[in-house]
Amino acid sequence: MMPTSASGPAASGTREGPPPPTAPPSTEHAALQQEAEQLQGRLDAIRARLEAAEPTAVRNVAVVDHSVCRLCGVCEEACPRGAIRMTEQIEVDRTRCTGCGVCVGLCPAGAVHLESVGM
Ligand code: SF4
Ligand code: SF4
Repeated sequence: MMPTSASGPAASGTREGPPPPTAPPSTEHAALQQEAEQLQGRLDAIRARLEAAEPTAVRNVAVVDHSVCRLCGVCEEACPRGAIRMTEQIEVDRTRCTGCGVCVGLCPAGAVHLESVGM
């Protein structure tokens, strides 16, 4: 008599029973995912700061109100950049003026102020 092989469902080609256990989430995978999210958050914050800190193409220069200037020459002597020259009136060389404000502070007539100009 021939030995019989296994009988039952296996023998008929189907397999039943509980599904195979799913693998538990990898601890390292979860940690790396969290780290990536944190880095993305930092990158977004840095980009926002970078955008806010973008240099503007504007600078200050001294402007003289000739209607109140007394032609005393204080600003001409005080300017550390030699940007002020007195002829018939006070002239500011905008290419030399750095907008330091020294002349504004020293003018006895309050005739100088700073203005923003495009570069
Ligand atoms: S702002 Fe400064 S650099 Fe410009 S004219 Fe006045 S003293 Fe000179
Ligand atoms: S210091 Fe003032 S008042 Fe004197 S020259 Fe300069 S702008 Fe005019």
